[in-house]
Amino acid sequence: MKYISTRGGCEPCSSAQAIKQGLAGDGGLFLPDRMPELSDQTLKELCACDYPTRAAKVLYMFLNDDYTYDELLSDCKEAYSEAGFPGGPAPISSIGDNIRVLELWHGPTSAFKDMALQIMPRLFSRAIKKTNDKRQALILVATSGDTGKAALEGYRDIDGVRIMVFYPQSGVSRVQKLQMATQIGNNVFVQSVIGNFDDAQNGVKKIFSSDEMRAQLDSKGIFLSSANSINWGRLVPQVVYYISAYCDLVNKGDITIGEDINVCVPTGNFGNILAAYIAKMMGLPIHDLVCASNKNKILTDFFETGIYDRNREFYTTASPSMDILISSNLERLLYLKSGSEKTAEYMKELSEKGKYRIGQSCFNSITRSFCGGYCDEENTAKTIKHIYEDYNYLCDTHTAVAMYCTENFLKNVDGKRKILTVSTASPYKFSPSVYAALTGEHFENELDAIGALLKLTGVEIPLPLKDIEKREIRFDPEKSIKAEDMPKAVLEF
Ligand SMILES: *Cc1c(COP(=O)(O)O)cnc(C)c1O
Repeated sequence: MKYISTRGGCEPCSSAQAIKQGLAGDGGLFLPDRMPELSDQTLKELCACDYPTRAAKVLYMFLNDDYTYDELLSDCKEAYSEAGFPGGPAPISSIGDNIRVLELWHGPTSAFKDMALQIMPRLFSRAIKKTNDKRQALILVATSGDTGKAALEGYRDIDGVRIMVFYPQSGVSRVQKLQMATQIGNNVFVQSVIGNFDDAQNGVKKIFSSDEMRAQLDSKGIFLSSANSINWGRLVPQVVYYISAYCDLVNKGDITIGEDINVCVPTGNFGNILAAYIAKMMGLPIHDLVCASNKNKILTDFFETGIYDRNREFYTTASPSMDILISSNLERLLYLKSGSEKTAEYMKELSEKGKYRIGQSCFNSITRSFCGGYCDEENTAKTIKHIYEDYNYLCDTHTAVAMYCTENFLKNVDGKRKILTVSTASPYKFSPSVYAALTGEHFENELDAIGALLKLTGVEIPLPLKDIEKREIRFDPEKSIKAEDMPKAVLEF
């Protein structure tokens, strides 16, 4: 299997090269030149395996040009261990007759990014060696909160890699700051930057585009890389949990093997739901994919009209990880449905006019599998309350968006099939919003909201969020630097 660019402007390369490189040379995203097939026989075999083995077998289908099965199995056992994911990586809860909730937040940072970021650094570290690169990688991340912490946990103590995370002094919650300030690991550094997220992000972008920085780092045997969500090494582990969830539903007797299910995914960058679509292309019996958006409903409009238009107001919502106007991974779907020439055209229009319209046949083909739905702020809060009161199930704001779209889909489109609704964060990650949805009461201090939510619901606080104020501070949040001093900080590290 070879990896090609969605914009068709590069020679095909191997899986390790694609994972090491991240973005293709023509600005496109990497995809395999064909999808491996998941036969009924293989699906049956996977039903009998545990999660790390399922993961290794699925990853091997995509990466077997460069990676051995034993390497992948060893990485998956470490990434998805009982210590990292107590009780298992992707448990399923039931709501009513037909809704099954796939909880992807039982990892080290209580958000679904862990599912990919626990394994991706291991694939990346091997990719450096497999491409005969003798250098060390330095991962630079600018974060507004959650991705930084998940990346730190994923890359800590990984061989041949160091990671440095910059976060803005303002705009990051107290819990998120504490999570990063107390980060353990011998190859990590965390730095607070004066200003907002854009200041930190621009600082990182400048370092990436500076020839002088690259030369200085190169002389020390170091190259720069990012932990970006467009890397194939982050997307492919996400295919696994859809296949695994299907097996779990079969094993529980909820469905019989071969029976179609629907899925509903709370969506931002379009990575998670695209992974579900890749599983469908491989042959997993998925019928419809419901793309759930919050008030930033650019994708809902796209699935309705075939027009992607980012010229619109940007809203800050209670589900911040879905506050996105450019869903980068949509480019991969466009390639799969219309080929590289059209994709390159659409992406050019997007960068020049902030807008493109897909052709009718591409639109028809996409809407045969996908539909969009959205949930505004008021309905997000109402859904948290209703799901808790009617089903005794506590969900976070992102999951609530998906839950609202799921209930509409069951009512209006398909009420017969089982629907797998993806839950992407622990309710405790967004305690103030969840508590306010249940009681109408607002907390200023996030730590107080965690305590109050526990008292109100009795739902256990996940280990990563427990007692964080008592952990040792390794990177002082009060010692912020100016954005212009970021290159100096990198060289010192
Ligand atoms: C990142 C994230 C999402 C969005 O996932 P995409 O793959 O970007 O669509 C949804 N919910 C939470 C909690 C997230 O962290």
